[in-house]
Amino acid sequence: MVAKKTIRDIDWIGKRALVRVDFNVPLENGQITDDTRIRAALPTIRYLLEHGAAVVLMSHLGRPKNKVVESMRLAPTVARLAELLPEAKAVKGTQATTGPSVEAASRDLRPGEVLVIENTRFDAREEANDESMARELARLGDVYVNDAFGSAHRAHASTEGVARFLPAVAGFLMEAELAALQGALENPARPFVTIIGGAKISDKIGVIENLLGKVDALLIGGGMANTFLLAQGYDMGDSLVERDSVATAKAMLELAAGRGVKLLLPTDVVIADAFSPDANRQVVPVNAIPAGWRALDIGPETVSAYAEVIAGAQTVIWNGPMGVFEMAPFAEGTRAIAQAMAACSGMTVIGGGDSVAAVEQMGLAEKIRHISTGGGASLELLEGKELPGVAALNDR
Ligand code: ADP
Ligand code: MG
Repeated sequence: MVAKKTIRDIDWIGKRALVRVDFNVPLENGQITDDTRIRAALPTIRYLLEHGAAVVLMSHLGRPKNKVVESMRLAPTVARLAELLPEAKAVKGTQATTGPSVEAASRDLRPGEVLVIENTRFDAREEANDESMARELARLGDVYVNDAFGSAHRAHASTEGVARFLPAVAGFLMEAELAALQGALENPARPFVTIIGGAKISDKIGVIENLLGKVDALLIGGGMANTFLLAQGYDMGDSLVERDSVATAKAMLELAAGRGVKLLLPTDVVIADAFSPDANRQVVPVNAIPAGWRALDIGPETVSAYAEVIAGAQTVIWNGPMGVFEMAPFAEGTRAIAQAMAACSGMTVIGGGDSVAAVEQMGLAEKIRHISTGGGASLELLEGKELPGVAALNDR
């Protein structure tokens, strides 16, 4: 891992920090329903203010498709930030993303003040990573800070392009994400165990392939386990399977065997006679799935086997639920794995939108060492890809 400069490496006195944050919060009728992402950016913003900087923030919100959409303005986030940051001398917003009025507002900003520029995705040049927009953004600050890990897998003007025109460093959230995820991947305390689940094998082939070169054990659950079981010759009934991926699953099983990686698949499953919380259900061994039934969760025998491996691990990374956790009758496997992670004394990391939602819903998030804020970005790191928003930052 190439270590990146961080906000600690800069003398901020009298400087304007241009900070890419992730204020892509859920809104309902103009009200923020969850401000976790704004809170996650506070340590970086506070550090900058305490060290003599003026702070210019930029973020996208929603998918406005390259034009101004009134309901996607950042104004609600500016108001919430002002409440969360009483120590700031001022917290202001702008009507535009770039241009003379925004430049003037950023020039007039005093140390201790915060300016939030309007939604970067209102400008068609953002997602095109257009150089003219990157240059205009660069005029709004003296040093660029990227604290938007969740957007770092996208090469946009505010996440990648702008870093070419200013000194560019990581914020605390970005630093913590990279330390946890890259640290675990590149220099794990062993045994290093990963748990991969979720609906489809095709979404995560790259992840499995990359991890097979690094881990001591790989535990597979969720819908994707069905395709592996099919590849081993089991009859999966009406379970979600990807017939196109059977050959890939076979190749992964061989790769694991060749590398001496312990690859565990479910030995029992919770099956249902319909995709519904009210369906009839039963626990069966994987060789006894009747026609018309489908596997929607891992079974108790599988849970014990996986929990034992997790208990002995020094590093655990988990991505993807073990079953259809959105329906209570099929959430037990996911809950048990979350509990095993919570009880593990090693480094525990969870990445992935649905897995993180499951663990939060179950009230176990505090017991996990690192919960990633970036689903897509964490998956790309697990695939071994370099994130453009990280690559663009200055090396130490
Ligand atoms: P993440 O967002 O954590 O990366 P994914 O998006 O890959 O996870 O997968 C989450 C989805 O997988 C959930 O909606 C869950 O219902 C579904 N899923 C898990 N197990 C099964 C299964 N056995 N059959 C069908 N869908 C499943
Ligand atoms: Mg998902």
